[in-house]
Amino acid sequence: MKIVLLGPPGAGKGTQAEALVKKLFIPHISTGDMFRAAISSGTPLGMEAKRYIDQGHLVPDEITAGIIKDRIAQPDCREGFLLDGFPRTLPQAEALDEMLKEQGGLDAVLDIDVELDRLIVRLTGRRMCKDCGAIYHLLYNAPQKENVCDICGGSLYQRVDDTEETVKNRLSVYEKQTAPLIEYYQKKGILHIVNGDNPINTVLADLGKALGQNWN
Ligand code: ADP
Ligand code: ADP
Ligand code: ZN
Repeated sequence: MKIVLLGPPGAGKGTQAEALVKKLFIPHISTGDMFRAAISSGTPLGMEAKRYIDQGHLVPDEITAGIIKDRIAQPDCREGFLLDGFPRTLPQAEALDEMLKEQGGLDAVLDIDVELDRLIVRLTGRRMCKDCGAIYHLLYNAPQKENVCDICGGSLYQRVDDTEETVKNRLSVYEKQTAPLIEYYQKKGILHIVNGDNPINTVLADLGKALGQNWN
């Protein structure tokens, strides 16, 4: 299955992607995670991407589409993959269609729908594990022990782009550049909209239903 998870920043894409790939046995491909890994290793890609990410702007399409093209050509993607955070612009969506032309295109696009005014609290309260990347929330998905990852014991941190100022930029970028993808995929007949303003497990079950699975 070749799946795209769509939705505004903070909708729960990363959270749901982690759970979905455990059930579907396909790789989770997150452009945000790939950029953050490149930033922490100090590669030229990381240094370039950081200039955009820290301001809440998008990394240019050619760079982003290039890393996705290389990633989905890897052998572990032969049976499919779950894209989280890509595409985010129409040119990226078109580039992806071109990459998948010979493999019959995408199977499903899952749009996690959350009203924009709910997202500031989601994003400013988000905490991530510095070791395993697990995603928490101070109020909605708190770790058992403050600032410690339940899974690996690593310490939690707040992303530099999860401050209120940068979040506002990211939400306006989403509205202008990413929201038009909803219509793009609707026209292709592969879009499924799921209400993201429900408990995490309810959203997961609804995403499963959209994919024709019953995980209750
Ligand atoms: P995205 O990848 O779409 O930006 P995340 O999965 O990182 O979103 O989630 C953003 C924040 O919202 C995180 O702190 C996460 O714990 C929290 N979150 C995710 N899904 C839900 C939900 N259904 N209800 C409440 N909070 C959620
Ligand atoms: P979130 O889901 O919380 O918005 P991500 O972790 O998906 O955050 O992405 C973090 C940042 O990485 C984005 O704000 C953007 O700067 C950059 N980025 C991620 N994916 C893309 C993409 N497909 N195109 C351009 N920039 C991207
Ligand atoms: Zn961890």
